[in-house]
Amino acid sequence: MKALKFYNQRDIRLEEVAKPIPGDGEVLIKVTHSGISQTQVNEFMEGPYLINAIPGDAGLGSDELIPGHEFGGVIEGVGPNTDSRLVGQPVAVLPRISCGDCDNCQGGIENLCANLAYYGLVGAHGGFAEYAVVKRDNIFPVGSLDTSLYSFIEPILVGINAGRQIEDRLAGSKILLLGAGGVGICVAAVLKDYFGADIVISDFLPFRLQKAAELGIKTLRSEELTCEYDIVIDCAGSDPASQNAALLESFDYVKSNGIVLMIGSYFHELSFIPMSVIARQVQLRSSFAYDSFAVGKLNEVLETLEPDFNLLIHEIPLEDIIDEGYFRSEVDKGGFVRIVVKP
Ligand SMILES: [Zn+2]
Repeated sequence: MKALKFYNQRDIRLEEVAKPIPGDGEVLIKVTHSGISQTQVNEFMEGPYLINAIPGDAGLGSDELIPGHEFGGVIEGVGPNTDSRLVGQPVAVLPRISCGDCDNCQGGIENLCANLAYYGLVGAHGGFAEYAVVKRDNIFPVGSLDTSLYSFIEPILVGINAGRQIEDRLAGSKILLLGAGGVGICVAAVLKDYFGADIVISDFLPFRLQKAAELGIKTLRSEELTCEYDIVIDCAGSDPASQNAALLESFDYVKSNGIVLMIGSYFHELSFIPMSVIARQVQLRSSFAYDSFAVGKLNEVLETLEPDFNLLIHEIPLEDIIDEGYFRSEVDKGGFVRIVVKP
């Protein structure tokens, strides 16, 4: 089968590899949708940071990982001790793999598992391939849900996890979210529709802002922003098209005693003057991936979500993933929100 392989920074290759065989308790998925997130683009440009960070985990060597952690498709086969009635089911992949035994797993914060792996990102092959094998526990039956949702299930889980980090302060708060990419829009949608938050999204890229507006989310242009928010969420992360870091900009828009919530990924140092944060008693919080509580809430959250995620998708074939996927993501962020690979 065809698959993209991540060798190193700026070294990804589309190769012919053996079709994977599902093992005990695993399923074989014919991948139909696989989203390219900014995290993957950053791994390519500035990493590897998460990719290959734990060599050998999940049985995979220290290089040649098949990336792609936001994907889904149709189950085509099952391994031993796995219900054969799963064959034919459309599923999204829940990419987090946690051990279940460490203190954090036992405490219900499986996203912080001491032995964390992640399909397509940490120690296990992902969805930029014609087929993928994942554990039975890592599939989410999408049933009659629109297929456009396949590559947004993971970002929606990220949104649920993010909401829980600020749940104590949501009531009556004005919230600003920076970064109208796929993750940013999903997080904003979950906060608005499920948590009932008063949220506005901003991005310096007009196309992305327009798409967020089409999905029913309140928007503001960068030049309209002022320091009036109780909570500012950075979903932009590292951005090659801008010298500004949204995380540092967040401090400009958060009121005293407010919260800055970090979600976006950065792979380089940022500098700021801590006293400017301390003297205003701004809290810095972060949200990473998602825990089992978020998975438990997924169906309930999906029922509340109003946006038509089809509006965010720009589809490309797997053959074009390097030029029209990764390289385009680096130089033309203003022309799309979410590139989805269709192997
Ligand atoms: Zn664990």
